[in-house]
Amino acid sequence: MSPKGKIRIDKALCKGCGYCVDTCPLGVIVMRRHFNSQGYFPAGVGHPEKCTGCTMCARVCPEIAITVYRENGTGPCALRKRG
Ligand code: SF4
Ligand code: SF4
Repeated sequence: MSPKGKIRIDKALCKGCGYCVDTCPLGVIVMRRHFNSQGYFPAGVGHPEKCTGCTMCARVCPEIAITVYRENGTGPCALRKRG
């Protein structure tokens, strides 16, 4: 059984580069068609049920807008956080 993950995207930080969409091997992330507060089309979670928590999206995000939570024996954990 694949590991289960979950991501949270801070839309206010997102610059709409699309790196995370291109990087996710499972097509979890999609680009939204409404502007965020900075005037960009932000990334959003389109298929959360597919996420394995591999962290690839968070690693490529230049804005550190993605936090990954991974369910394991010790419960969900945040991989990266701004600040
Ligand atoms: S953690 Fe992995 S599977 Fe989940 S959205 Fe990011 S790249 Fe895709
Ligand atoms: S990589 Fe980061 S900044 Fe680029 S679209 Fe994804 S969440 Fe937004």
